[in-house]
Amino acid sequence: MDHFQLKNGVLHAEDIPLSQIAEEVGTPVYVYSRATLERHAQVFREGLKDAGKIHLAFAVKANPNLAVLRILANQGYGADVVSGGELQRALAAGMKAEDIVFSGVGKSREELTLGLDQGIGQFNLESEEEGVMLAGIAASRGAKASATLRVNPDVDAGTHAKISTGKKENKFGVAIDVAPAIYARLSQLDGLDLRGVAVHIGSQLQSLDPLETCYARMGELVAQLRGAGHVVTHVDLGGGLGVPYKPEDNPPSPAEYGAMVARVTRDWDVTLMFEPGRVIAGNGGVMITKVIRIKPGLDSDFVIVDAAMNDLMRPAIYDAWHDFEAVEPSGETMVASIVGPICESSDIFAKQRVVDRVETDDLGIFRTAGAYGATMANTYNSRPLVPEVLVDGDRYAVVAERIEPATIMAAEHVPDWLK
Ligand SMILES: *Cc1c(COP(=O)(O)O)cnc(C)c1O
Repeated sequence: MDHFQLKNGVLHAEDIPLSQIAEEVGTPVYVYSRATLERHAQVFREGLKDAGKIHLAFAVKANPNLAVLRILANQGYGADVVSGGELQRALAAGMKAEDIVFSGVGKSREELTLGLDQGIGQFNLESEEEGVMLAGIAASRGAKASATLRVNPDVDAGTHAKISTGKKENKFGVAIDVAPAIYARLSQLDGLDLRGVAVHIGSQLQSLDPLETCYARMGELVAQLRGAGHVVTHVDLGGGLGVPYKPEDNPPSPAEYGAMVARVTRDWDVTLMFEPGRVIAGNGGVMITKVIRIKPGLDSDFVIVDAAMNDLMRPAIYDAWHDFEAVEPSGETMVASIVGPICESSDIFAKQRVVDRVETDDLGIFRTAGAYGATMANTYNSRPLVPEVLVDGDRYAVVAERIEPATIMAAEHVPDWLK
């Protein structure tokens, strides 16, 4: 459920007409609903009510906006970060250092040091080499870093190849068959407090089956590690729950997910950790765009909008679907391809799709844009960096400004020797 609904013929975010935001802030613009984000955070937590002791860490990469992170911090969420920059954001948004988990295959020495300096709760190690480096840095300052070992369970998540992470050929984690030996060696190191294992097999999962297979393998691994005399107190089960992008999509609900987790992990006796991203933020945001003009095409018209692949990259890189709707629908439809102004054929949001009829200067939205939307935006074709707005009932605020090309140019320099 989300709070982007028609009221008196106009799409609203909570109590604010999207046309008002478009007029006052300009387009394209991302709009988030506080009530929707809070609801999703609560529904996910509620789904895990039978899963024992849990720790929730929002996957910052899905939506790193400081206001969004603050909402989740207020909901008792920590953060799953994958860079020093995300770590700084989580702290700036008010998340407690001990509630932060640091994931990622390429944490640099500087990033590991930053994590230790800030006293974060857990490092999810993705290789033995990373564990040795972290242990060395921690030991040299007389500290012990809390860590888990991320395991690659060799499970096909059944999702888009570019968002699958748990097959043995993927770069993430250590292969499950060698995990016990690596765990044994890392647990000997002075600077590490190795306390468990972690897993994350991919994103936008449409079925619980791969997750259940994966979690069952993790259960066997925990038993094997304990059998070898290791202490295992934490298991991080990652993120990955899908969201509906199309009306007919029917991903598992947080309640169904939570019931499966409770059943599979019943006698693990650990703190279970979760890293949801998309399921919290995806349907908490839309992107508003304005129709620049309609251009006749071979098989159907092109609706050329002022948003482009630089603002919302998912269709271009994952063939992703985002529903398109008019902000003030007439009730009529049209078959059209919706495209942006960028000089790339991949700058297309919808191909010959039945959509609300729109004309020049009309406003439309792309739905389910709250996750992996603004955070992937860039300034290709020297376009501005897209702004973000947060709505709360009948008020709203610009929570990320539009960054104009002139501001970006100001950070570039033509060297003297070219003058
Ligand atoms: C991307 C990612 C997540 C979040 O995935 P969602 O599908 O958005 O829930 C969680 N954990 C790790 C390690 C990730 O890389």
